[in-house]
Amino acid sequence: MVKILNRFFNFLYPPICPICNEAVDSHGAICANCWKSFNWISNPKCFKCGYPFPADLDLGPHPLCPHCAAGECDLDFIRSACVYDDVSKNIMLPFKHASQLKYQTMMSRSMINALRDLDLHIDVVMPVPLAWKRLVKRGYNQATLLARPIAKHFNAVLDVDSVTRKYRPDMGHKTTKQRRENVRGVFKIKDKNKLIGKNILLIDDVMTSGATFYELNRILRKAGVSAVYAVSFCRVVHSI
Ligand SMILES: [Zn+2]
Ligand SMILES: [Zn+2]
Repeated sequence: MVKILNRFFNFLYPPICPICNEAVDSHGAICANCWKSFNWISNPKCFKCGYPFPADLDLGPHPLCPHCAAGECDLDFIRSACVYDDVSKNIMLPFKHASQLKYQTMMSRSMINALRDLDLHIDVVMPVPLAWKRLVKRGYNQATLLARPIAKHFNAVLDVDSVTRKYRPDMGHKTTKQRRENVRGVFKIKDKNKLIGKNILLIDDVMTSGATFYELNRILRKAGVSAVYAVSFCRVVHSI
């Protein structure tokens, strides 16, 4: 019965690529041409933080970037689906600021895919909280929209209220150190009972310097969580 209804739905609303409107096999999928235009992050990459290495390097099964090798990444694992460039920016920014929610499925699917090489047990999926002032202005938290299907995939609890965020003006283009200082102390744990001993997966649309993930990780560890992972749709890749 569900199959018949699905076919009828597809007949009325044929699935199209949300980027170029080309016909595709299923709703939410993107076409092969658009797929090829992204800079998807695959191996070789840093096993811990997901930093992409040049494709022709053979670094063994679990290579580490200099930061992770020096013990500077406190999260258990970070992954991102693709590199932040003109292609991913043209999806991410309209999704974030212009209610272009048609990209939600492809974005969250690619994030699930980015976590595939890690056999994670996740209890709680937590979108990076948005300050109340921004939430009211924008009307939605883009990270929550991405987190919902990811929580469903991992059979985990979607947690949008255990941590709150204070409003602070935009960070602009500042150094990693300045970004870290700017975000320090902005998050507050409201209810740690739901988090103690749990494995948490943080969700964001873009990872710039990692400062937001690091700060959330810091207060979650203090609250007694067991493990912290993070995944973003795209990631700014600085040379290291
Ligand atoms: Zn397309
Ligand atoms: Zn690394």
